[in-house]
Amino acid sequence: MALTETVPAAAPPAHEGILRRQSLRESAARTYARSLPIVPVRARGLTIEGADGRRYLDCLSGAGTLALGHNHPVVLEAIRTVLDSGAPLHVLDLATPVKDAFTTELFATLPGKLAETARIQFCGPAGTDAVEAAFKLVRTATGRDGLMAFSGAYHGMTAEALAASGGAQHTSVVRLPYPYDYRCPFQTGGERGAELSARWTQSLLDDPKSGVPRPAGMILEPVQGEGGVIPAPDGWLRRMREITAARQIPLIVDEVQTGVGRTGAFWAVDHSGIVPDVIVLSKAIGGSLPLAVIVYREELDAWQPGAHAGTFRGNQLAMAAGAATLAYVRTNGLDRRAGELGRRMLDRLTALAAAHDCIGDVRGRGLMLGVELVDRSADADAMGARPADPQLAAAVQHACLERGLIVELGGRHSAVVRLLPPLTITDEQAEAILDRLADAIAAAVRTTPGPTGSSPTTMRGTSP
Ligand code: PMP
Repeated sequence: MALTETVPAAAPPAHEGILRRQSLRESAARTYARSLPIVPVRARGLTIEGADGRRYLDCLSGAGTLALGHNHPVVLEAIRTVLDSGAPLHVLDLATPVKDAFTTELFATLPGKLAETARIQFCGPAGTDAVEAAFKLVRTATGRDGLMAFSGAYHGMTAEALAASGGAQHTSVVRLPYPYDYRCPFQTGGERGAELSARWTQSLLDDPKSGVPRPAGMILEPVQGEGGVIPAPDGWLRRMREITAARQIPLIVDEVQTGVGRTGAFWAVDHSGIVPDVIVLSKAIGGSLPLAVIVYREELDAWQPGAHAGTFRGNQLAMAAGAATLAYVRTNGLDRRAGELGRRMLDRLTALAAAHDCIGDVRGRGLMLGVELVDRSADADAMGARPADPQLAAAVQHACLERGLIVELGGRHSAVVRLLPPLTITDEQAEAILDRLADAIAAAVRTTPGPTGSSPTTMRGTSP
């Protein structure tokens, strides 16, 4: 399959029919299907082929799940081996050789101190269930109730995970400012902005009249993904670790999206060297099949048998696919590769930003990259930031799809174009992704008036 080629073909009626029936029969709450009206029928690596015969470069990767891309041979082989062995596919939380091998492989990758004494809880198969488990664990262990979480966070859609996310409406979770350089709430940005965020956290915890009782735990993402691809500075993560450790507050790090090499280290916490008390894992650890776990310090293991149960905690195919993925990333140094390639892609995005005044910011870590689109006609604030332009972002996403590129939108106002390609992409594929994105941005700028009715043509120069 030629990976970067787009093959326009006459859409067979099946394609239209499937999309029509989907819109008639599926819930109003459906998401990606609205902005990406495609019908995938085959996929390999970075490429998805639609029922209409078109090929797309998939930078959504199952919302960051597909570390090795679609249908990687080692993943398929691991799944086939289990199928051919006659092993049971579903075993609740019973011990099996497949599970044993997965746990051994996972533990081999954990940050030093945690690896020595870690406990693992297999959860229901989604990231959100593992987040719930983490909260239950730290509440039981500390006897405390409250939680601290960050503005812009995303931890899932079940009750407590949602309450800890930035979109929460009714919540008793204490919200702290995440260091967001481009829209720094303290209007300083950089290390100073991050330090002020840390000090605010510290003062809430130490001021006896802050109105914030000592919480059961603090949860954070080392790079906010859905929040708009915002990497936390390593120094800030170390400060959060010191602040929580000094006050016996368990630190829960949500690596659901950042884990398994995505950010240029095996776990995103490895960049800063911090060791969390609890790590929440899902997405890539299942090698494209559903799997979620929490891994935590044994001292926290004070909950009762059955405290966090669930039927689907023993998916053998996911464990086999996950173990194969973890081993492949580790033995092939794909984390380092993601770091190097990500830096080069970010350089090119920075050049793209210099050419387009509708790009307010580009940022990311490893192969988790974001391009924040802004209203090019609006005034910039004191920090140089302009209001987000979700309409333009949607136009860019659409123009990308027309050019055979699948991208996701994220960020506070859905104005950040997100790139989450597989860690296995070649240099050539990375270039193809950026070529199509650059072309799509130029096209969207030509056709989309700014939210304040600005002229639709304000390019700074030639796009790279
Ligand atoms: N945490 C993070 C950081 C995530 O990005 C997500 C999903 N995007 C979740 C938790 C929730 O995972 P799931 O959708 O599998 O419940």
